[in-house]
Amino acid sequence: MFEKKKKFKLTAVILILCSLYLIHALYVIFAHNPSFELLSKNTISYSGLKAKINSDNTKISLIRVSLGTKEDSIYPIYEESSLNEVFEEKFISIPLNQEDEVVKFIKKNKLKSLYLYYTINYSNKFFDSDINKKIKISIDFEPPSIKSVRTDSYVYLGGIGYVTYETSSDTLSSYVETEIDNKFYPITKVNENSISNLVFFTCGNKPCKNGKIKIIAEDLSGNSLVLSKKIKTLRNKKWKTSDIAVDSDFVKNKYNEIFNTSIKSVTVDNFLELNLELRKKNNLKITSETRKITKNLITLGKFVQLRNSKVFSRYSDKRDYFFNDMESSLMTTYHWGYDLSSIENAKVYASSEGIVTFLSNNGLGIYGKTIIIDHGLGFYSLYSHLSEISVDVGDMVTSKVVIGKTGQTGLAFGDHLHFGSYIQGVPFDSNELWDKKYFNQKVLSVYTNFINPNNMNLKSQGRLKAE
Ligand SMILES: [Zn+2]
Repeated sequence: MFEKKKKFKLTAVILILCSLYLIHALYVIFAHNPSFELLSKNTISYSGLKAKINSDNTKISLIRVSLGTKEDSIYPIYEESSLNEVFEEKFISIPLNQEDEVVKFIKKNKLKSLYLYYTINYSNKFFDSDINKKIKISIDFEPPSIKSVRTDSYVYLGGIGYVTYETSSDTLSSYVETEIDNKFYPITKVNENSISNLVFFTCGNKPCKNGKIKIIAEDLSGNSLVLSKKIKTLRNKKWKTSDIAVDSDFVKNKYNEIFNTSIKSVTVDNFLELNLELRKKNNLKITSETRKITKNLITLGKFVQLRNSKVFSRYSDKRDYFFNDMESSLMTTYHWGYDLSSIENAKVYASSEGIVTFLSNNGLGIYGKTIIIDHGLGFYSLYSHLSEISVDVGDMVTSKVVIGKTGQTGLAFGDHLHFGSYIQGVPFDSNELWDKKYFNQKVLSVYTNFINPNNMNLKSQGRLKAE
C-alpha cells in the first residue's frame, strides 16, 4: 500500500515536470520571438543587403550579421548592440563596395553563393534568449545591360523628346532622368531575351542638363547601370517676361473665394499664402495626377486648341508680381500652360480623345474648377478657371465633346481657359500637341514603329506593358 502511494507521487511529479516542459516548449514555439527577413531576394549585390527585423514585442539587445562559407562565419558586416529602444520593426541596410574584404574574397574565389549568419539577442517576458541562424544567399554583381539606344537626339526648348533602348531580362525597372525629380518611365515590350523600352521625356523649360539625359536600369538585387545620351536643345523660341500688378481688393476677393473666408483686409503675407504656397501645393497635386503612365495610346493624334480663341499667355512666360505700390517685385512664377481667351463662358471641348481622370468642382486652389484628361502614353491635358464642368471622372471624351465652360474661378484675372499639357507629371509646351506634324514625328510614328517594327498587324505583336 505504502509502495503504491510512493509510486503515485513519483508519477505525479514526473507529470507536472512534463507539463511544465510542454508549457515552456509551447511558449518558445508560439510566444514572442523576433524574426529576421532578408529583403534583397536572398541575393547580395553592390547595393548591399537590406533586412527587416521584427521584434515581436521582445526587447532586442544585439543584432549581428556576418558573411562566410557553409562552415564558417568569416566577415562581420553589421553589428548593433545595447539597443535600448523598443521597436516593432527595424530596417537595416548594409552597403558593400569593391574594397570590402568580403567582396574581394567573393571575386578571388569566383563564388556564386555564400552564407549569411545572423544573431539576435532578445528578452521576452520570461527569459533571455538568442537566435543564431544562417541563410544561403546568391551573389549578383552584374548590373543589367542597356543596349541599342536610339533617339533623334534633339528637343525643342520646352518640347518632347524620345529614346528607345533594350535592357537585359533581369531588369526590374528602367527610366530616363532629366532632373533629380523628373523621371520618365518606359512603355515596355518583353522579348524572349531582352526588354524593349520607349520613353517620352521633356527637359522642361530649360535646355537638357549638361546637354544630356540619363538612362538608368536597375535589377532585382539592386545593381544599377547609368548611361548618358547627348540631347541637343534647339532654342527656337523665347518666352516673354511680364509684370503683374495686383492690388489689395483683387487679392482680398480671390483669397476669400479660394479659402472660403471673409477677411476684410489683406497683407503681403496673405498674397504669398495664395500665390506662392497654395500655387506650390496645387502644382504638386497636378504632378501627382498626371504622373501615371497609361500603357496604350488613347488619342488619335490630333489636338485642337480652344475654338475661336486667342493666345494671350504662353508656356514658361515669366511673371513678376507687384503687390499694391511696391517698387520691386515680390515673387516670380513661370506659367505652366497657355491662357486662351474667347467669349465669356465659351464652350470648352476636350482637346483630343482621352479619359477624364481628375476634376475639381470645388476648385483646385489657384487653378479654380479644373479637369484633367489622360491621352495615353503618359500625356495629359489640363483645363482650368472653368465656370462649369459637364463631365465625370472616367468619361471617355473626344474633341467633339463639351467638357465645361470657360470662367474665372481660382486666381484668374478675367474669363479665359488655362490649358496645360503634361508628360508623366512634367509640364511641356502645348504647341507640341497642337502642331500635328510635330506630335506625329516625335510621338505617334515613334510609338507605332516601336510596337510594330515590321509593320505587322498590331494584334499579332508581343506583350506590351507599361511600368
Ligand atoms: Zn494660365
